[in-house]
Amino acid sequence: MGRIGVVVLLACSLWLPSIALARNDGDPAAMPEVAKVADADWPGTITLVVDASDVSQRIQRVRERIPVQPGPLTLWYPQWIPGHHAPTGPVNQLAGLAIDGNGTRIAWRRDAVDMYAFHLDVPAGVDALDIEFQYLSPTSSAQGRVAMTSAMLDLQWHRVLLYPAGYDARRIRFAPSLTLPAGWQSGTALEIASRDGDTLHFAPLALVDLVDSPLYAGRWFKRYDLDPGAGQAVHLDVVADAPELLEAKPAILDAHRALVRQADLVFGARPFAHYDFLLALSDLFSGIGLEHHQSSENGTDPGYLRGDAPFTGNDLLPHEYSHAWNGKYRRPAPSWTPHFNTPMHGDLLWLYEGQTNYWAVVLSARSGLWNNEQARAVLAELVATQAQRRGRDWRSLQDTVSQGIIDFNDAPQAWESWQRAYDFYGGGALLWLDVDAELRELSKGKRSLDDFAHGFFGGSQGRVQVSTYTFDDVVAALDALQPFDWAAFLRERLDATPAPFDGLVRSGWRMVYDDAPNAAIAAAEGADDNDDFRFSLGLKVARADGRIEEVVWDGPAFKAGLARDMQVIAVDGTAYTAARLRQALLAAKTAKPPIELLVRQGDSFSTHRIDYHDGVRQPRLERIPGTPDRLSRMLAPR
Ligand SMILES: [Zn+2]
Repeated sequence: MGRIGVVVLLACSLWLPSIALARNDGDPAAMPEVAKVADADWPGTITLVVDASDVSQRIQRVRERIPVQPGPLTLWYPQWIPGHHAPTGPVNQLAGLAIDGNGTRIAWRRDAVDMYAFHLDVPAGVDALDIEFQYLSPTSSAQGRVAMTSAMLDLQWHRVLLYPAGYDARRIRFAPSLTLPAGWQSGTALEIASRDGDTLHFAPLALVDLVDSPLYAGRWFKRYDLDPGAGQAVHLDVVADAPELLEAKPAILDAHRALVRQADLVFGARPFAHYDFLLALSDLFSGIGLEHHQSSENGTDPGYLRGDAPFTGNDLLPHEYSHAWNGKYRRPAPSWTPHFNTPMHGDLLWLYEGQTNYWAVVLSARSGLWNNEQARAVLAELVATQAQRRGRDWRSLQDTVSQGIIDFNDAPQAWESWQRAYDFYGGGALLWLDVDAELRELSKGKRSLDDFAHGFFGGSQGRVQVSTYTFDDVVAALDALQPFDWAAFLRERLDATPAPFDGLVRSGWRMVYDDAPNAAIAAAEGADDNDDFRFSLGLKVARADGRIEEVVWDGPAFKAGLARDMQVIAVDGTAYTAARLRQALLAAKTAKPPIELLVRQGDSFSTHRIDYHDGVRQPRLERIPGTPDRLSRMLAPR
């Protein structure tokens, strides 16, 4: 999808005292009707009372009081949530909606096309609506993201509110309060005005900031100061399944403090008044990484702070933190919208997500969350994965950002390497490695992507307003650093999508395949409980039951007719184990016959012959002799 396809609404039922385009940002000509907002504040402050104390039934009870005037009114449940890049607001989990005025029930009608819009007529004499509903937090991951367990809660405000349509989210004020389970502690970027037992009353704020400020609460909670004495404080607020998981090993804590310092050196001024990493360490709570301007939601392995988690997950916090600059403070103009019920365009996500992914790799290495060998193993896997994506044959990197908006619910893809739905992350990271290497080469080592980030994302200390940019702004910023035809350089890589080796080679390294284990692939195998044969046979198999999790398009397994979700029963006539498949790989190096797999698909059994004789193949980075080692400079702490 390119620009907006179908936008429905309903201008007739919106109450719009005076229409004006959103003042900042975006291209007014490209802005759909629904994005047009009143040039006025919503009169009065909306009171929002959320009771999230029910940890067993996980029903969050909402009461809301909205000051209104008589006449037609539309209320919206937030649909397009920033950072999701997709219309993911969980309106199917809202239930029990009842709206009263002066104690009398007012009928509401859901829009026939926009399921997020509720229409009603405010009767004469009513100056406030009293709204009640429940948000039914999923009790298992089959219903959606598990964000509430008996030990922790992730309260995202967009799930527990309605707001009046037709206004800028910066100009609708909320006074929120939240009741937590008895005795729980919490972390959030919100300012707490007062406490009343387990109820927190927050200082009134604009809707846009409320939705951007989730809260983590837990039975077990610990807060770390990552930069004591800083003007713009950075904290790590941790909830966990058990109290001992809250205790960070000193080396791990030091690496997080180094992350804050190294990010300062890359980006310059901190564009927030304060920042809270919200971190959940749990097997029960769904994993998450979601950026906000003054906080981020992170959910990962319970052993993370003890150093027991797979290192491949250590770039999560560097990724989300980089977004405070790249994505939240500086935002692509097409991704900026005046409220949460108009589509957000993804046109520049290869910068928003791609460069963030690049800085996540670099900052993980510079802060010590990865050593250099680990960073190179991650890069080797990334380059090898992108290199074998035959999806490059039919769709460009630029095209992937457009489809992202319907694919963002983590739905598995049948043919990931052919569909390449999320390549603006991995492919985007390699694009920026290429830009960094080119900048270093052209400037003879005087300029790098660090200078770009410092100039483009650094701004004024403590600033929390969004500043938008366009493709031309990106090109101008690069050109100011180092004159070059950057527009052509970027467009060639975005539209033609060549093989992703240039940046690596220009950094003084190349990718080779051999039988030495790749530490990043081994760590991911442990974390995901599978065996990864993508770079030899072209498939990945679940350890638990031999189910195929991926078949690489056009690879040896693909040519043998295998598909995802077939179950491998036998290898060369013997019951399947990963070790036996590895043995068969080695034997096939010197033997002529193909490797024979017996698989089950539903009730059918079939035999597939994989004609592959190159043995174990794992990607690894190798220095190119006689060239400058730019990669090691990129990864070294400053
Ligand atoms: Zn991201």
